[in-house]
Amino acid sequence: MVIKPKIRGFICTNAHPVGCAENVKRQISYVKQQPPIENAPKNVLVIGCSTGYGLASRITAAFGGQAHTLGVCFEKEPTEKKTATAGWYNTAAFHQEAESEGLKFHSINGDAFSDEIKQESIDYIKNNMGKIDLVVYSLASPKRKDPESGELYSSVLKPIGKQYTTKTYNTDKDQVHEVTLDPATDDDIANTVKVMGGEDWERWIKALHDADLLANDCQTTAYTYIGKKLTWPIYGHATIGRAKEDLDRASSALDDTYKDVNLKAYVSSLKALVTQASSAIPVMPLYISLIYGVMKEEGTHEGCIEQIYRLFTEGLYAETPELDDAGRLHMDGYETNDKTQAKVEALWDKVTQENFHDLADYEGYHNDFLKLFGFGFDNVDYDADVNPKVNW
Ligand code: NAD
Repeated sequence: MVIKPKIRGFICTNAHPVGCAENVKRQISYVKQQPPIENAPKNVLVIGCSTGYGLASRITAAFGGQAHTLGVCFEKEPTEKKTATAGWYNTAAFHQEAESEGLKFHSINGDAFSDEIKQESIDYIKNNMGKIDLVVYSLASPKRKDPESGELYSSVLKPIGKQYTTKTYNTDKDQVHEVTLDPATDDDIANTVKVMGGEDWERWIKALHDADLLANDCQTTAYTYIGKKLTWPIYGHATIGRAKEDLDRASSALDDTYKDVNLKAYVSSLKALVTQASSAIPVMPLYISLIYGVMKEEGTHEGCIEQIYRLFTEGLYAETPELDDAGRLHMDGYETNDKTQAKVEALWDKVTQENFHDLADYEGYHNDFLKLFGFGFDNVDYDADVNPKVNW
């Protein structure tokens, strides 16, 4: 099958196995060129391991610290006629690379919110890993089925309090236009917290603790985006921001509850980057393409792997990690500092459909978007016939 990108709205509905493998190899190569991580964790569980920040976390733990990694993800298998999702191919490529380095690994494909997948993970850990030193919680999902009530909750991306009109960029049509978002209802807020808040993170840690699988001094982290003025109305101060505030609540609760193993739970605030999750958030594609240009000019641009390698070396496994006022590990300083934000705000005021390609790093955004799905790598032959049926 010859595989070309099929972009629909903010998503690409297919993926290229060879390109996805290339994406994984490049991240591994970056980590291997860095100094090894001191005091690296040996047994690592990554929940949401197949794309974006979770994939980068798994690669960093495995190739920067030689960890045995268990990854949990929710991806679609390929068929004869249809490619798999990118995360499926990424996981296959991770396995291949890890195997060739003699690393230990295992992946579980299924709904991480369910009790069944938690139990399957626990069984694997018990039989093959021993106790866990690090749990990375990196899920991004629009839906969650509550395992106790069976009720399905959907998250929404809406402002809180009042209607909000702003600029956005339509990646599919290559158009800058205005968008008006209606305010969230109380139910919208509660549902979004239910899906993307801390409850499921706490359930994972409880399940691991109940099975006596948390090592002493175990650490756990969940990822957040804090952002600044331009993104607050649709992120920080919006429904998703409420869910992320709930992660702060959960991290304190986890620290208090699991003192017997001296668990340390951190929320880590990461920079805005093109991922499958962020492409779906109104405002973010425009904001990201503008900030990419500014940060590349300042020489501070990073991708997922650079952010996460620094999170391990300057945050989770540093002697004195830098924390923000709320006690989070904060890795987003190159983006959120006042000088950089002032530059992006000035561009934001000016940007229109006509000048978008001049003011923003459209090419950078678009190329990174394509690469998420394994497209746009200069050393991959996209006219070649490839077999989509890759297994792991
Ligand atoms: P992503 O879409 O690239 O990755 C999501 C991961 O979750 C994938 O591995 C997917 O398979 C997995 N997943 C989704 N639903 C699942 C389910 N039900 N069961 C098992 N696995 C499931 O997203 P991302 O951007 O890497 O986001 C990860 C975290 O980082 C999120 O909490 C997000 O809010 C946070 N974050 C993202 C950004 C950004 O700009 N992208 C910035 C800061 C923080």
